[in-house]
Amino acid sequence: QFLSNPPLTLEKNSVSVPPESQNFHWHGFTQMADFQNIVIERAEGCWLTTTSGQRLFDGVASLWCNVHGHRNPKMDEAIRAQLDRVSHITTLGMSADITDQLAERLAEVTPGDLKHVFFSSDGSSAVEAALKMALQYWHLKNQTTPSSTSTAKTRYLALSSAYHGDTTGAVSLGGIKYFHQLFAPIVFTPVRGPLPCSYRLPDGIRDATACDYYAHEIESLLKQHHAELAAVVMEPLVQGAAGMITHPAGLLARIRELCDQYNVLMIVDEVATGFGRTGRMFACDHEGVTPDILCMGKGITAGYLPMAATIARPHVFEAFLGKSSERKQFYHGHTFGGNPLAAAAAVASLDLFRDTQLTETIDAKSQFLRECLAPIADHPHVGDVRGRGLMVGIELVADRNRKTPFDSDRLIGRNVCERATELGAWIRPLGDVIVLMPPLVASNEELRFLADTVTRAIEEVLADID
Ligand code: PLP
Repeated sequence: QFLSNPPLTLEKNSVSVPPESQNFHWHGFTQMADFQNIVIERAEGCWLTTTSGQRLFDGVASLWCNVHGHRNPKMDEAIRAQLDRVSHITTLGMSADITDQLAERLAEVTPGDLKHVFFSSDGSSAVEAALKMALQYWHLKNQTTPSSTSTAKTRYLALSSAYHGDTTGAVSLGGIKYFHQLFAPIVFTPVRGPLPCSYRLPDGIRDATACDYYAHEIESLLKQHHAELAAVVMEPLVQGAAGMITHPAGLLARIRELCDQYNVLMIVDEVATGFGRTGRMFACDHEGVTPDILCMGKGITAGYLPMAATIARPHVFEAFLGKSSERKQFYHGHTFGGNPLAAAAAVASLDLFRDTQLTETIDAKSQFLRECLAPIADHPHVGDVRGRGLMVGIELVADRNRKTPFDSDRLIGRNVCERATELGAWIRPLGDVIVLMPPLVASNEELRFLADTVTRAIEEVLADID
């Protein structure tokens, strides 16, 4: 009943050269030769309206970042009010009051004693800042205690299939074949950890022993490499872009202990999981973990304006303190880091989180969405329905018993998402994993619409598949 207009029709693979009107705007992760653009002119709540009047449910929260819905009056008002005060100044040597206020509010909502906020403009840049912060931290520490280690701590441990963004440092950490392999000649090589995937455990490993198994694998690497490692970098609980891979419970806390034991910093990338997405403000809260450095982006401004942040604990921050002549300052900074309009959006979003207690509603919504998806979970080509909170992945497989993937050239995931879009729910796949990441304010009625639409799309596309 949500659709007031006839559904969209996408002409699949019909264009070999994009129409000229589409050439100006080069879209990321998109084959421009067979690209059917959908142009949005309005958005409200969880719904997008195209220039031809069709309504689409925003099933991926505008790339995993929308929280309170589009055109939330409080968000709009806060940004407009800030526009009347100051829209942009540098944060190199000065700050806007709203940005300082935001830093304090972020320290309040992030885990433990995370306190010192370094602003940037997107998730990848928040990760870059964390990498450089960790490296400079060890450089400064080793200057003051030269005997502490003879090897420079200049490397990072990243998990298999990691995704931390598209800038060069983030790509170095990355482990997704199509996104990262091509760029190998221009990046650094991390120490590569395992992929702690609860769905495909190694032979002989069960749910109950999976955490110990992966912790042991990571410990072996730390034993071997700790002297050269500045940090372990990881997404907590769910590796989003890897295909919503869920880690065994307890692993995050075990890795925290191992980082302490082997004197390596822990950088947690909460760009996707932060701001209520998993049912806690930050995913680290599920396991009572405080990393040394935490990266956030996407949901920080509730998806309204570009902003990201890297927040550090006092022991990290304090290593950078000294006389100007000692040149210990963090050698990093972005033109638009801490932008006041974005900061106003972020403060307004935190006010909304507090006033609506949105995070506390996520477990129930997640449960409801899972119930709506229960029938499709039994489909012979649905291997797994997984995730945490409102971060859900449905993995489509050729053989459910053997967990065998489809041949990736068949583009099954893409076909399902295109059909769902025609039926009124805008979603994007990760290979053959169908991603559902609605805005956190989605009502049960809207979640039911999303689940029903995706169910129908999967059934139709996989009806006669061999
Ligand atoms: N880190 C994680 C875990 C992400 O999921 C993403 C984006 O999807 C990024 C970093 C990069 O963020 P951005 O696209 O804002 O640069």
